[in-house]
Amino acid sequence: MMAQMEQPRIAIIGGGISGLSTLHFLKRRLPVEVSIRLFESDSRLGGTIGSDRVDGYVCDWGPNGFLDRVPLTLRLVEELCLQDRLRPANPQADNRFIYRHGRLHAISASPIKFMTSSLLSLRGRLRVTMEPLIKPKRDDTDESVFDFAARRIGREAAEAMIDPMVSGIFGGDAKAVSLRSCFPVMEEMERNYGSLFRAMLAKKKSGKNAGPAGPSGRLTSFDNGLYTIIERFHELYRDQIQKDSPVLRIIKTPQGYQVEFSGGPSETFSAVVLATPAFASAQILHDTDRQLSDLLYQIPYASLAVCCFGYSGDKRARELEGFGFLVPRNEGKRILGSICTSSIFQDQAPTGQVLLRSMIGGYTDPAAVQLTDNDLISLVHSELQAILGLQTKPAFVRIFRYEKGIPQFTLGHSDRLKQIDQRLDTLPGIYLASNAYSGIGLNDCVTRALESAKKLVTFLRASMTLS
Ligand SMILES: Cc1cc2nc3c(=O)[nH]c(=O)nc-3n(C[C@H](O)[C@H](O)[C@H](O)COP(=O)(O)OP(=O)(O)OC[C@H]3O[C@@H](n4cnc5c(N)ncnc54)[C@H](O)[C@@H]3O)c2cc1C
Repeated sequence: MMAQMEQPRIAIIGGGISGLSTLHFLKRRLPVEVSIRLFESDSRLGGTIGSDRVDGYVCDWGPNGFLDRVPLTLRLVEELCLQDRLRPANPQADNRFIYRHGRLHAISASPIKFMTSSLLSLRGRLRVTMEPLIKPKRDDTDESVFDFAARRIGREAAEAMIDPMVSGIFGGDAKAVSLRSCFPVMEEMERNYGSLFRAMLAKKKSGKNAGPAGPSGRLTSFDNGLYTIIERFHELYRDQIQKDSPVLRIIKTPQGYQVEFSGGPSETFSAVVLATPAFASAQILHDTDRQLSDLLYQIPYASLAVCCFGYSGDKRARELEGFGFLVPRNEGKRILGSICTSSIFQDQAPTGQVLLRSMIGGYTDPAAVQLTDNDLISLVHSELQAILGLQTKPAFVRIFRYEKGIPQFTLGHSDRLKQIDQRLDTLPGIYLASNAYSGIGLNDCVTRALESAKKLVTFLRASMTLS
């Protein structure tokens, strides 16, 4: 209950999954009298989440699902009454592949299948088996994902298996991103058990999930694509949401934080959650705290293009089965990988048609996103033809571009976060949600949204006599 004087007013900036989840968590935690408003610069909500539903195809713009391993996200789905609309990935589409030396190789967690697979040379496979003998790193310095992998499982496995995983998940460069920030579990496994294999064995014995960094959990979406969740947020909270409202900057005043909009009057709020990309937050906070703004600008972003191709009547395409494939950067191809959406979510393509979703660009190929539609289509199609043996041109095409798509947790990211937190300590009532800090997945965004909401409620309770 509110006990006194003026009502607190809260602003959330950014209407992607981070901002919308923050709005939801705050609405459930604060009395109805507290004014909570969300400002989105665009005329639509969702940020990188979008689903085009055309000609029987469902093409997700950016993310195409979340892993069902985080109870908080599943609880959020229930709170939004969307549990009946969840669509887990088809278990028959579990097989994943890596393209190497001109062909696709199935990847398997089974040691026997791995040892008999042709993905790595015999020498490369033997080097992987020596992992338990490799001494753990003793110092506490940040290490790149590539260096860690090369040290533990050998350079060949790092190039063939870890490099494509990083470009597939983060659009990132394995040599530039930090193990500590991207795969903290792996760092812990080495620290606690001295070896990844030993850690996996110990976890297996204790009945816990054994995978070091792979996608434990099942990819899950909704009927009609991921945008379903954004539509639901909008239905529930339309009165609190203001679209077409780009925030220019925030200024600290004795009354709180004055939020200035592009082309509109400013408003003062008691607390503000910035659920905007780090570079946008940097700009918004520039006149509030220059140091914080500089730190936020230091978080780089990778550009990406997502190419959705629908094939009708291509015999080879119809034979495709499995989840998809990844391409190591040293294989001379520009696509980072493709997933077979019509195998994973069978209701996202018309019966008998095949929907492939390929990613191109990333941190190591920033020029790809600048290609014209025609150039992208012919480049991606010719690489798919070479890799999969497709015979026909796509009958259906959708392309989505992200100039600054995915934040990169490069070496030093964890130190940067500590400094960001120190600056935030001097700005009570300002919180940073979004995928730029503690994880890029949708689960991470939801988790950080809840943390931001809880901190904000504590702040209001302490400063405004909320009971
Ligand atoms: C191609 C691609 C594929 C992905 N695949 C997956 C996947 O399969 N699974 C997964 O878990 N994650 C995936 N991700 C990551 C995931 O999509 C993102 O981390 C997540 O959607 C980010 O949400 P967000 O709300 O933090 O940011 P955003 O979605 O970027 O939202 C930020 C919002 O802030 C608004 N904004 C910006 N500046 C201002 C301003 N000045 N004033 C007001 N509003 C402003 C923007 O318009 C935007 O709506 C993928 C990302 C991309 C790009």
